[in-house]
Amino acid sequence: MKLSKRGLQVKESSTLAITAKAKKMASEGIDLAAFTAGEPDFDTPEHIRDEAIRAINIGFTRYTPSSGTLELRKAICDKLKRDNGLTYEPAQIVVSNGAKHSLTNAFMAILNEGEEVIVPAPFWLSYPEMVHIAGGKPVVIESSSANGYKITRKELESVYTSKTKALILNSPNNPTGAVYSEAELKEIADFIVEKDIFVVADEIYEELVYSGVKHVSIANFNEEIFKRTIVINGFSKGYAMTGWRLGYAAAVKEIADIMSNIQSHMTSNPNSITQMAAIVALNSDQTSVKNMCVEFEKRRDYICDRAAKIPHISFNRPDGAFYLYIDVSGLYGKEVKGTAIKSAADVGSVLLTSYDTVVVPCADFGAPNHIRLSYAISMDDIKKGMDRFERFVSENY
Ligand code: PMP
Ligand code: GLU
Repeated sequence: MKLSKRGLQVKESSTLAITAKAKKMASEGIDLAAFTAGEPDFDTPEHIRDEAIRAINIGFTRYTPSSGTLELRKAICDKLKRDNGLTYEPAQIVVSNGAKHSLTNAFMAILNEGEEVIVPAPFWLSYPEMVHIAGGKPVVIESSSANGYKITRKELESVYTSKTKALILNSPNNPTGAVYSEAELKEIADFIVEKDIFVVADEIYEELVYSGVKHVSIANFNEEIFKRTIVINGFSKGYAMTGWRLGYAAAVKEIADIMSNIQSHMTSNPNSITQMAAIVALNSDQTSVKNMCVEFEKRRDYICDRAAKIPHISFNRPDGAFYLYIDVSGLYGKEVKGTAIKSAADVGSVLLTSYDTVVVPCADFGAPNHIRLSYAISMDDIKKGMDRFERFVSENY
C-alpha cells in the first residue's frame, strides 16, 4: 500500500492520547491524580453557556461566512485593540475550529514545500506536526533553563538559512510557563523584520499570567513587525471552552484571505452556536476570567512549593499558562519497581503504574528529560498527586 508520505510523517498527539487514557482509567474507578491535558477544570461561565442555548433557540444554526460572522470578527478586533493595542479590520480576522486549526491554516497559508519554520524547544508538540502537514520543515532550536527557556537572537541566527520562512513563538509558553518580556520580544521582532520572515505568535495563554507579569504581543512594536505577524488566540484556555472549538488568527489581509479560502473548502465555517457565545465571552464582564486566573496562581504557588521540597528534580517557576515543567534527569540510573529509570518516559510510566499518577513525559515536546504537570486540575487533585510524587521519590531514592 502506498500512502501519503506527508501523512505518514505526522505523529499522533500524545497529550490527547494520554488524556484519553487517564479519562478512561478514571471512569473505570481508578483513583488517579491526572496532571494531563492543558484543559481548565472550570465550567464555561454561565453567561456564555446561556448565550449558546439562546443561539440554538433563535435558530442561529446555519452556515456562517467561512471566516466567521462579521459581528464576532468585530468583537475580536475590539478585543485585540483593547487588550493588545493592535488595530485590525474584520477582514483580517479568520475564526476557526480552535487555535489548533488556526495554526495549521496559518502554516498552510505561508509555507511552500520544504520551507523552514524555526521551532524553539521545548515546544508544544503539535507545532512540528502542523508544519509537516503544511509541507514545511520544522527546524528545532534549543532554549536553556538558565535563560528561562526563552530564545534570543543568537539562537535564531544560528539556524537561519535562505529557506527560513517563519518562527513560531508561544508566550505564555506550553510547556515551560515562560513569558517573554517586552525587551526580549523586541529583539526577536527586529530579527524577523531584518530577515523579512514571518512570526506565528501563539498567544492562547495570554490571560493566564501571574505575579504582575504582563503579556505583550510581538505584533505591537511597529508597522513592519505587525505586517509579518500572524497572531493566534482562542477561547479554550481563558474562557474554559476547550470542547467548544473556537480559535482565531489575525494577520494582513493577503494571509487572512488565503486562510479563509483554505478553510472554506475544509470545514466551511466554525460552529455557528459557539460563535454567538464567543461574542458574549469577549464583550461581557471579564470577572470570571480574572477569578480563574487568581485560582491558577494559587495552584501554581502550591505546586511549586511542593515540588521544591522533592529532591533530585529541578524546575523554573512558571510565570504563565498552567504547567510545571520539571527536569527529572536527576532520577535516572535506578531501578524502580522493575523499571530501569533512564528517561522521562520511564518516570512517567512508573508514576502511572505504581503510583496512579499521570504526567506528560515531554519527549514529543523536544525535551526527553522533562515531564509536564498541568495544574489546571483541582487543588485536591494537585495535593494528592504531589503526595504521590513525593512518595515515589522518597521510597526509591
Ligand atoms: N496552542 C497551545 C500552546 C496550546 O497549548 C493549545 C492547547 N490545546 C492550543 C494552541 C490549541 O488550543 P485549541 O485548539 O483548543 O484552541
Ligand atoms: N494543548 C493542551 C495540551 O498541551 C491540550 C491537548 C492538546 O491539544 O495537545 O495538553
